Amino acid sequence: MRKLLYLFLIAGLMWGMVVIDLTHSADARVSSSLAPRPPTIVSVKNKVTSSMAPTPTVSQSAASRSHSHRSPLVIALTFDDGPSPVYTPQVLSILQRYKVHATFFCIGEWVHLYPGLVEETFRAGNVIGDHTWSHPDLTKLSSYAVRWQLSSASAAIQYAIGSPPALFRPPYGATNATVVSIASQLGLLQILWTIDPRDWALPGVNAIVNIVLSHATNRSIILMHDGGGDRSETVRALPLIISALQQRGFTFVTVPQLLGG
Ligand code: ZN
Repeated sequence: MRKLLYLFLIAGLMWGMVVIDLTHSADARVSSSLAPRPPTIVSVKNKVTSSMAPTPTVSQSAASRSHSHRSPLVIALTFDDGPSPVYTPQVLSILQRYKVHATFFCIGEWVHLYPGLVEETFRAGNVIGDHTWSHPDLTKLSSYAVRWQLSSASAAIQYAIGSPPALFRPPYGATNATVVSIASQLGLLQILWTIDPRDWALPGVNAIVNIVLSHATNRSIILMHDGGGDRSETVRALPLIISALQQRGFTFVTVPQLLGG
């Protein structure tokens, strides 16, 4: 029954997509192809726009007393543009090896194609967020299209994992008050990032590792990619980043954990 409802929903969404195509000029139309366009992500470095929870309190154990009330160091790994049948399993394997969890902002088209991969990611203890249906610049779309992009990806995620996402990340970090408002109406909190190692540009494993390690501070949000192109450098950089930051005393948390939720 749930599958029937979902298929009905997708059919409705496809109809919505046709409407969008008819109402947009040729250079601003939304792709109706199921094959996602490889995202070309601009280099932007943004701060998290959501409100932050209070700093976690330190428990009064003997160990924490010796650190005189210093807060534990927490940091969040986030992966955009998946799921990818090639790279997402490799990322999951590394996360499991180091016993850490991350937040994955998935593209609806790919969730629709690989719902089992998203379910596996979710069941491993990771958080799934909404990264729109087909990775457009939301600031260039009508309000109707923004709503469609977010709600259709949310529906695909709900079908895959049984619950709707609570977080979204706008493609390219491109956002405005309208996008935030529509997302909020859909129950989605916008999450950007604080560290961008530009892994999508294949700058080399050492460059990815060095940028993350040189910028890592308490409560950083690291942007990486598990889909949308060649992510082999990301996969090779990931164990080096995790092990180095764990040695520095960082604990890896999901974005909801970072926000205190
Ligand atoms: Zn993206």
